[in-house]
Amino acid sequence: MQEKNKCAICGKAGSGIIINGSTICNSCETAIINITPSSKLYDYYRKAIGRIFANVPKPKKLYQK
Ligand SMILES: [Zn+2]
Repeated sequence: MQEKNKCAICGKAGSGIIINGSTICNSCETAIINITPSSKLYDYYRKAIGRIFANVPKPKKLYQK
């Protein structure tokens, strides 16, 4: 179990959704939902999300063996 969660994107402690063990705070979640590719922050969030999902185990590995 995780205790104090820090947002994987903005680094602020807080509660929010947890994806792959990484917390995304409510404000970042809202920002991601509302972001558009023309936004200045689009690349920033895209990279942050990429980091989070880079650690997701491949489903294949889970079911192999
Ligand atoms: Zn955040």
